[in-house]
Amino acid sequence: MACPEVARLAPTLSTGFGSGTVGGSTPVESLHVLGCAGSSYAGRAGPPCSSYLVEMGGRALLLDCGYGSLDALSALVNSRACALDAVILTHSHADHAGDLFALLERGDLWRGAPLVVAQRETIDHVGYRVGSGASTYVEARDGGCVTVGDVALRFSSTDHQVATVAVAVSAGATRLVYSSDTGPRWRPPPAHVGASLAIVECTLFRRRDRDSPYHLDGSEAAALLRYLSPARALVTHVPPGESVSARVEIVGRWSKSAETEAAVAGLRIDLVP
Ligand SMILES: [Zn+2]
Ligand SMILES: [Zn+2]
Repeated sequence: MACPEVARLAPTLSTGFGSGTVGGSTPVESLHVLGCAGSSYAGRAGPPCSSYLVEMGGRALLLDCGYGSLDALSALVNSRACALDAVILTHSHADHAGDLFALLERGDLWRGAPLVVAQRETIDHVGYRVGSGASTYVEARDGGCVTVGDVALRFSSTDHQVATVAVAVSAGATRLVYSSDTGPRWRPPPAHVGASLAIVECTLFRRRDRDSPYHLDGSEAAALLRYLSPARALVTHVPPGESVSARVEIVGRWSKSAETEAAVAGLRIDLVP
C-alpha cells in the first residue's frame, strides 16, 4: 500500500541500533516493551508506563514515553550501543507522554536531532513548543502517513477522551499495530488489519456501569483483535495491581487467537513478516 509522503526524514541509513544484525547476517526487526502499566499516574514512583521501542527498516522508533519509561530506554540503548530516530506520541496523557521532556534532553540517546511525531492537540496539551529547542516536530493526522527513512507510520484516531491516534508501523512486509488507548467505538482502517503483531489495550477486566467508556475490557479487546486479525497479539495497559493473566485468558479465549500474551516490561519480540 502506497504511503503519501508527508515527511521523508534522514533518508540515509546508518550503522547503529536500527540497522544491527543478529548472528552477523539477519536484520534486526523487533519490539521491546519498556513499560506498559495502564492509567497509572504515580510518576517515577510507580511501574513504567506505556513505551515500546520498535526496530524496523533500519530505524529505532519509540512509541510513547510514559512515566518512568526513560530509565529502561536508557539502559537498553546503552547496552546495545544504539540510537533513537523518533518518538511517536499517541496522546497527551502522562502515562504515554510523561517522560517526553526528559527524553528530549538526553542527546546521548538520539542518532541526530530528536524527532517528535504527534497530533497538534497532543503537543499543545503537553506544552511542547515547536521550534523552542533542538528537536524537530512532524504532525500526525488521522488517516495520514509519515515516513522515517523506509518506515511508514499510518495513523487512525481512536475512541478516547483526548485526541489519540493508533499507529501502524511498517517496513517492507513487516508491520505492527498499536491501539494506544481506545474505547470500543474505534474502527481501524485497512492498513491496521493483518499485521505481524498487534499491541492492544485491555484496561478493564469486565466492564461495569461506572467504568470509563474510553477503554476496552476483555471481550471488547477480543472483538478488536478478531477484526485486526494479527499473527500475534500483546495485551497491554493493565493498571498496576490488577491481573494481566486474567485478561490474557479472556482475550485469548474470545479472540480465538492462540498467540495472545501479556505485555510485560523487558519483553522483546522478534517481528516476522
Ligand atoms: Zn493510557
Ligand atoms: Zn489515555
